[in-house]
Amino acid sequence: MPESTADFTAALRTALAGADTADARALWRALGTGGVIAALYPDGGTQPDPRRLAALLAELDAHSPLGVTLSVCVQVATVLPLLAEAATTGPVADTVAGMVRGETVVALAVTDAGASGSDLLDATTRTKLGDDAVTVDGRKDWITNATTCDAALVLARHREPRHFTSFCWLLVPRSTPGVTVESAGRAFAGSGVGHLRFDGVALEPGALVGRPGRALAGFARQVGVERLAGALWSRALCRRLMTGLGDWLRSRPAADGTLWDHPAVRDRYARCLVALRQLDALCAPLLDGPPGPPSTATGMVLKVAAAETAETITAEAVHLRGADAFRDGGEAALRTEAAMFGIAGGATGTMLAGLADHADDLLGSGP
Ligand SMILES: Cc1cc2nc3c(=O)[nH]c(=O)nc-3n(C[C@H](O)[C@H](O)[C@H](O)COP(=O)(O)OP(=O)(O)OC[C@H]3O[C@@H](n4cnc5c(N)ncnc54)[C@H](O)[C@@H]3O)c2cc1C
Repeated sequence: MPESTADFTAALRTALAGADTADARALWRALGTGGVIAALYPDGGTQPDPRRLAALLAELDAHSPLGVTLSVCVQVATVLPLLAEAATTGPVADTVAGMVRGETVVALAVTDAGASGSDLLDATTRTKLGDDAVTVDGRKDWITNATTCDAALVLARHREPRHFTSFCWLLVPRSTPGVTVESAGRAFAGSGVGHLRFDGVALEPGALVGRPGRALAGFARQVGVERLAGALWSRALCRRLMTGLGDWLRSRPAADGTLWDHPAVRDRYARCLVALRQLDALCAPLLDGPPGPPSTATGMVLKVAAAETAETITAEAVHLRGADAFRDGGEAALRTEAAMFGIAGGATGTMLAGLADHADDLLGSGP
């Protein structure tokens, strides 16, 4: 087990060196066999160490398509902690052990086809919890790892009242009769993003994860770690883009030198630097904090900042690179996919509506 973040990064680089970094399952296996997934949760904990999480996302961002990084991100930040905190023995614990070894891929199926993703209380995927059997019916749309997973952690309604205690988690093996999967299309290559359908799916009672009624509260807490992960990833992606852009501007001939010499170009580049440093500053205190979710308000601030910084910097990278941005794998394609920072795991508009409710907390937390 690596002792320090530097040891962790060394183990991570060794694991990535021999892996197919464009294949999410192969990469997950390499991270598992290289001990990287286990080392992400030091001292037997269930939450990722923030500095190790930052190192993992930066390395993946540098070597893998965005969709592959997304596949890993949702598992390490959300699925694994939720499962690990729910059980230490039985089928759920066995699944956690399989994930840590990189053998098992588990999708997080929260967003419901029957309701807007921002409105989980109206989700229509339903379960009946019996003593001998559990059934589930419904549809979950836009689920990362849907087409590649072994199982899905499914948020399902077990009671009718529109209340946060009406939901539970189910661990649904993908091979169970009644589970069907459809790809969401060509976007986000490597993410396995797709739609899951559950028609009269019958499960063992052991499929229930944690106590019924606790799922939404647990998810609301854990999604804070996913938001921190998103901010750390957005920061790595933006830094990579800015570095490449700066090198390119310095090498691009212009009448009086290179594009880098134009004051207007330097001004636009500098504004991106400011945006990136603002995101860095938001992340910095959390990197040295304990593993685990930030406060709800901090999580929402991170989510909006990650999305807006990615949007600002990918847009400027496209504009400043001109036609070159449209080369295969160029900034224009990345910009389209990076728009997901403002959607997946919570849309920016919804975050802003929620943030206004926390105005007093946020204003009070200043110097
Ligand atoms: C690449 C990708 C991967 C994803 N992976 C997963 C996954 O692994 N698991 C999973 O469960 N889901 C996943 N999702 C789904 C994602 O979480 C939802 O798309 C997201 O929650 C937004 O829901 P929606 O798309 O239904 O948009 P809606 O909720 O319908 O929102 C549409 C628009 O309306 C605005 N809006 C809606 N409600 C409000 C409000 N109350 N206040 C202000 N504005 C509002 C939003 O800002 C948004 O712009 C993924 C999505 C993408 C794009």
